[in-house]
Amino acid sequence: MKFFYLSSNPNESGQHEVHDRDCVLIPDSYDRDYLGPYNTGNEALRKAQTMKTEVGLCKHCCNTHDQPIISILKGGKNIV
Ligand SMILES: [Zn+2]
Repeated sequence: MKFFYLSSNPNESGQHEVHDRDCVLIPDSYDRDYLGPYNTGNEALRKAQTMKTEVGLCKHCCNTHDQPIISILKGGKNIV
């Protein structure tokens, strides 16, 4: 479980980025909104979409390496 925040200011792509609390790139407390505790950035992103129209995940703290679907695909079957 991590605590996620939504940047109040859009990035150069016009998106408001979702950050976890420990991200080094998170905006300071005046420039962010609290989203809540979530297991993944994608869950936080869903909440963020209800607050802003253009939202995205921070590439630094919310990269999708730990997406469970990848391990399911790799571990489920023998690919020979
Ligand atoms: Zn971040």
